[in-house]
Amino acid sequence: MLNKLNKFFTIALFSLLSACATSPTGRSQLIYMPDTQLNQMGLQAFDNLKKEKPLSKNSQYNQFVYCIAEAITQETGGNWEVVVFADDSLNAFALPGNKIGVHAGLIELVDNQDQLAAVIGHEVGHVMARHSNERLSQKTAASQVVTLISAVSSPTTPLGQLAVSSLGIGAQYGIILPFSRTHESEADIIGLDLMAKAGFDPRQSINLWQKMEQASKGKSPAEFMSTHPSHDTRIKELSEHIPAALQYYQQAQSIGKKPRCRK
Ligand SMILES: [Zn+2]
Repeated sequence: MLNKLNKFFTIALFSLLSACATSPTGRSQLIYMPDTQLNQMGLQAFDNLKKEKPLSKNSQYNQFVYCIAEAITQETGGNWEVVVFADDSLNAFALPGNKIGVHAGLIELVDNQDQLAAVIGHEVGHVMARHSNERLSQKTAASQVVTLISAVSSPTTPLGQLAVSSLGIGAQYGIILPFSRTHESEADIIGLDLMAKAGFDPRQSINLWQKMEQASKGKSPAEFMSTHPSHDTRIKELSEHIPAALQYYQQAQSIGKKPRCRK
């Protein structure tokens, strides 16, 4: 009996340990899903979007986005696929499996490379902090993960809705599951550091978020703002973190990281 109990506790403890993770900002996370499976979900979702939505043929837009995304993703040490969609809505997203999508509407909105770098940095921040995995781990059992990969392709079913919304692309299918305030703050901080390390001016992130908020008050609310809700403290938190990010920015500049991406 004692042996059995011991075994039980060992297994329980092991499951608990394997479910505990730490985010890049040092926050404890409960994560059950294998990252390889999340990456497959991201890959599938990206493939579907590329089939469903027209890609932008505007070579200036494409070059502008590639130039910024390349500088930022170099700081993550991985290879990322980047696609510009011919879509007027204000949106951008990043998926597990290193995928980045930017809508042409957002390119039109930004004043400069630093503002778009703020959005891409924020999105990559969500992926680096494994937020999709954390959201799914809170809502499903690990045993469901294989079903979830195929569910990505059926966004009208309940499981498909859970899959696409957990990946942060629900708005594209009319399903809104906003990132939590914790996830938004965390993606802001990671994004700010990333953009600054890549040589983009972190102060422009404030202008970007103000522009986004302004734009979402208009006739067509920004798709982006529905999944990445702004909170009262966002600008305050960003401002508090800017002095630290400026140090990264100055370091980057001093070693010649001075991206010149123009649209
Ligand atoms: Zn976000």
